[in-house]
Amino acid sequence: AGDAPADRPDPAVKVVMRIRPPNCQEKENSRIVQKVSPDSLAIGDRTFTFHTVLGPESTQDDVFKLVGEPLVENSLAGFNTSIVSYGQTGSGKTYTMWGPPSAMVDSHSIDSNQGIVPRIFRRLFSEIQRRQESSEEKQISFQCRCSFLEIYNEQINDLMDPTQRNLQIRDDSRIGVHIENLTDEYVTTVEDVVQILLKGLSNRKVGATSMNSKSSRSHVIFTCIIESWCKSATCFTSSKSSRISLVDLAGSDWDELDGAGKHGIKEARHVKKSLARLGKLVNILADVTSSGKDHKVSYVESCLTHLLQDTLGGNSKVTFLCAISSDDRCKAGTFSTLRFAERAK
Ligand code: ADP
Ligand code: MG
Repeated sequence: AGDAPADRPDPAVKVVMRIRPPNCQEKENSRIVQKVSPDSLAIGDRTFTFHTVLGPESTQDDVFKLVGEPLVENSLAGFNTSIVSYGQTGSGKTYTMWGPPSAMVDSHSIDSNQGIVPRIFRRLFSEIQRRQESSEEKQISFQCRCSFLEIYNEQINDLMDPTQRNLQIRDDSRIGVHIENLTDEYVTTVEDVVQILLKGLSNRKVGATSMNSKSSRSHVIFTCIIESWCKSATCFTSSKSSRISLVDLAGSDWDELDGAGKHGIKEARHVKKSLARLGKLVNILADVTSSGKDHKVSYVESCLTHLLQDTLGGNSKVTFLCAISSDDRCKAGTFSTLRFAERAK
């Protein structure tokens, strides 16, 4: 895709801005955001620059090539990797991450609406198979296991088993941050992953007053742990473990969430708090990267940052996949996302 800038080393933190195409209620003359180069956009008299700007014409495949392909490479090289999808409700986070459920299952070819997550796992498994079969690397074997959770009102719920609610985070010096009693399942094909995604995303809706209301107030994290062993005579003791975290955040428009019903205010408060902590953390991490200063980073202040501890900072690569609408009516939310993204890069 013409959107991808020329080869650059893959940075530890990448910020990609995707402008969603106008929907049928949005008029051509109310568009206020213009992509002006492969890595910048203009809004009013301001210009913002990121790693890449994907315009309204960008496809799901463009996003995969830009973000998904390097993620698979990095994961198999042993890095912890993540994609964090940030933006106001309706900006295209969920579309970009999972895509519509109907597009997840491949028939003869990949559905053009399919999100980046199923595309990543198709590539991951074909790459694993290639490496396991290639003659020089015959002795490598891989094992992948996945889990799927939501954070709703600072409570962790298992999306693979809806009876498991309010799960507790444990810090284990040996295996790192993990969640007690969270279901995980071994997966060997993209179909295994899609089954988990479909089931989990349908569980996310349970208890929602309206579908969009809950999905805009909960964070969702799909995690895959990849373990590999090198079994050849020369290195039979070596093993590697890395983690892929795929995060679809609650809408960043918490201040505009209508707050209908008595739950609304509580939900908005929790979302506000955890996104603010993520923002603070992102600030600190950006400063550590740019200045080399050693800050004491506190991850445990919210479930979200606590769970992302192993994927933000350290030996990890994170992409903030930010979503905005170009419509005038979304201006406040768009500026808020642009400010978050500016701090993250
Ligand atoms: P969010 O998760 O940020 O609230 P959604 O992903 O649900 O937003 O997107 C809102 C609507 O816009 C959905 O109907 C979705 O299908 C559509 N949409 C979002 N991004 C795109 C895109 N790039 N191309 C086509 N439709 C899109
Ligand atoms: Mg969504």
